[in-house]
Amino acid sequence: MIFFIRKQTDKLVIVLLTFLCLNSCYTDKELVIEDQNTDAPLQEENYVIANVKGIFYTLAKDEGDGYYSYNDDMLVHQDNIVSMEATTDMSFEDITKEIDSLNVGIKKFGGTNKADTRYNSVIEQGAVLWGLDSATKKNTVDFSIDPSFSNSQQANIYTALSNWAQNTNISFRVFPYNQNTSLINIVKASTGCSCTVGYPGYNKLGTMKLSTTCDVQSITHEIGHAVGLIHEHQRPKRDQYLTIPSNLYSKIKAQFGSSLANTVKANLAKDLVYSDQLPYDYTSVMHYGSWPRNHQPLRDYLMGINLPLFTKKTGVEVTRPTYGLTFDDIKKVNLAYPD
Ligand SMILES: [Zn+2]
Repeated sequence: MIFFIRKQTDKLVIVLLTFLCLNSCYTDKELVIEDQNTDAPLQEENYVIANVKGIFYTLAKDEGDGYYSYNDDMLVHQDNIVSMEATTDMSFEDITKEIDSLNVGIKKFGGTNKADTRYNSVIEQGAVLWGLDSATKKNTVDFSIDPSFSNSQQANIYTALSNWAQNTNISFRVFPYNQNTSLINIVKASTGCSCTVGYPGYNKLGTMKLSTTCDVQSITHEIGHAVGLIHEHQRPKRDQYLTIPSNLYSKIKAQFGSSLANTVKANLAKDLVYSDQLPYDYTSVMHYGSWPRNHQPLRDYLMGINLPLFTKKTGVEVTRPTYGLTFDDIKKVNLAYPD
């Protein structure tokens, strides 16, 4: 059976959620922890410079399953990588310079698929990275879900899909689990939450990896990646809105070593988008909070010395949103998926 999740099918979603909840929503409560990790764990990582569809990125090495991570919780499958080189003997600064030199000639914030009118119209408006494959069915994104997720986790996934489906022009279809490569397969992970960016076709072999710590808000964030959104705090214009403490990386390096400092630096780097016109949104589901959530010793250390990853320009901390989508989250995606 295929489940359709779209605006017109509220009843189906409610019936489905009721069905899923009958068995376990009240017995598996320990799996729904509101204030736990959102994204992939910070680790000491080696980087590769990779040509992904004509643009060069710094990717952290894969976990042995073919997926490289990018900006913390965004995944790229090796089949999307045209070429790459290991960077074990390069400093992060050198990698950054190398990436900049390789990307010379690519218009900053430039996409590679300007023949795709949807891509153009979308990316001109907001913070969408790789956009969508115009060859795929309009406004429909297909998933399959590993049936071994607990009922309460499956309910969380359907609630997160419903968050997008009820508020935007996107519909979802959930197929029986078969790891078909034309679907985004939602699979179990031991830690963290992560997802490929953009719909398969742009990002072949889509996957979303969810551990038991991924709550509804985390999964809603990962679906944002699945439909093409980047992190709000990595938008090119973010420097007008956020202050990253000048001593952040040196403090982390002194305490934990250069590898973790480089990882944090990579995860806070500004991203590539075609244009950056929509208002900045501190409360976007795609914005991180001021304190790292995926590395408890780092979080404890930074909180202990009162050194956040970033603050608003006023010095006020950014709080991780714990509710669904904002007006601009919806606007961005509806620009990407016009009715
Ligand atoms: Zn993310």
